[in-house]
Amino acid sequence: MSVEQREKIQNYIQGQLKAPISGKYLDNFNPATGEVYSYIPDSEEQDVVEAVQSAKRAFHTWSKTPVETRSDFLLKIAKRIEDNAEELARIESIDNGKPISQARKVDIPRASKNFRFFASAIFHFASECHETDTKALNYTLRHPLGVVGCISPWNLPLYLFTWKIVPALATGNCVVAKPSEMAPMTTFLLSKICMEVGLPEGVLNIVHGLGNKVGSTITKAPEISAISFTGGTQTGKEIALQAAPQFKKLSLEMGGKNPALIFSDCDYEEALQETIRSSFANQGQICLSTSRIFVEKSLYAKFRKDFVDGVKKLTCGDPLEESTQQGALISRSHMDRVLSYIRLAKEEGGTILCGGSQAKMEGRLKNGWFVNPTVIEGLPMESRANQEEIFGPVVTITPFDHENQALTWANQTPYGLATTVWTRDLCRAHRMAREICAGIIWMNCWMQRDLRTPFGGMKSSGVGREGGMEIFRFFTEPKNVCIKMEVL
Ligand code: NDP
Repeated sequence: MSVEQREKIQNYIQGQLKAPISGKYLDNFNPATGEVYSYIPDSEEQDVVEAVQSAKRAFHTWSKTPVETRSDFLLKIAKRIEDNAEELARIESIDNGKPISQARKVDIPRASKNFRFFASAIFHFASECHETDTKALNYTLRHPLGVVGCISPWNLPLYLFTWKIVPALATGNCVVAKPSEMAPMTTFLLSKICMEVGLPEGVLNIVHGLGNKVGSTITKAPEISAISFTGGTQTGKEIALQAAPQFKKLSLEMGGKNPALIFSDCDYEEALQETIRSSFANQGQICLSTSRIFVEKSLYAKFRKDFVDGVKKLTCGDPLEESTQQGALISRSHMDRVLSYIRLAKEEGGTILCGGSQAKMEGRLKNGWFVNPTVIEGLPMESRANQEEIFGPVVTITPFDHENQALTWANQTPYGLATTVWTRDLCRAHRMAREICAGIIWMNCWMQRDLRTPFGGMKSSGVGREGGMEIFRFFTEPKNVCIKMEVL
């Protein structure tokens, strides 16, 4: 598995690789060098229409294919991903700018794990039966929806793409999917893997291109009955506006402004190291990244110093070097946006404790899009830098006086995706878990994922839950059958 120099990515429709109908392509950049290294189909409505027709044709047979056969295909794909893991990690790092160590340890293993997990979980997807006294027996059938749309972002490209398409396929749906045009290469390689394992034609269709063309055509297509979307909150709103009048099922996984609450009774070294990781892993471009750190006042001075010292050691480097901990941001415009938030934070009264600027690199990286990991202190909670998602290597740090203040601040944003709490007080841990408005609470850990658990956010962070049986429920339509019982 390799990517040729200046390779043209192709759509995957009806089991074949296809050029976009218009023949037009977009530039695909290597974020570490700022150079164009391949081309992406600039697909249009007609490409999506073809993909939808192809999925519709495949649906009857795929939905009636035994679960064991569907599962076997998914397991074969998992094996191919594992066989090609090193190359996929290298390509993910080039395409996205992320350190290769992250792609090796997290992105690619998780992509194959998504296949293995849902290929096995589907055998345990049971439906309910309710006996109504002696009068009736109710049982619930769960059937696939038909053709579903999956739209994914660029930050964890293959990881999040497979998180959506695999449960859709496992439940017997056919899929029209769009990866982000910012990092589409590994999904293109996935389409080649699907062809190698003989996945039936039309079951999975991947259309590359821009969100406002391909994404919005998928959202609007009347034949597509559900959309699973991961991305920004503003895009989620647009999708909801387009899909709601058609009464489509929607699962929206969106942005976050995740707090870390650090109490003085925490396991100090673990809290410190894990908060550095939760703030800056993948250059802070994970929906679950910590972006606001609240530290109990008695611990603040020590934590602040050790934290900033630790962050200063995270130097930006070549994403393809094993030792690199901070890679490039996804695009020039995203880098400019992150830098503009740093400027705004200064205007809002914040003090930059470290970072705060573009990282100037040399050699082949001299035009890359790097930002020094940045820590900002002294910002009011209502400041924009403390309220809006920056989605880069930028965190704010603030001391708190007591538990209630930390809790109020934690909940004081429009978002509610994830929160980490560091304390050894069990009662406080449970109190916090109950009161915090977030779909995911990590107590004394971060990014410990169990794929059986519900995943998603509250408020502007999301609608619905993915993961485990939740996503199987999303991708199926329940139908209750009530049978009257004769009393003898
Ligand atoms: P975007 O919302 O910009 O894009 C996400 C996907 O939607 C892309 O494939 C994009 O295509 C597509 N899209 C854009 N416009 C439309 C439209 N009008 N209709 C349909 N699809 C469209 O997000 P990013 O890719 O920038 O990802 C970063 C965001 O994702 C952050 O806010 C982050 O918090 C969030 N995220 C949330 C996660 C969660 O689980 N809650 C996990 C990971 C990220 P294109 O790339 O061509 O614009």
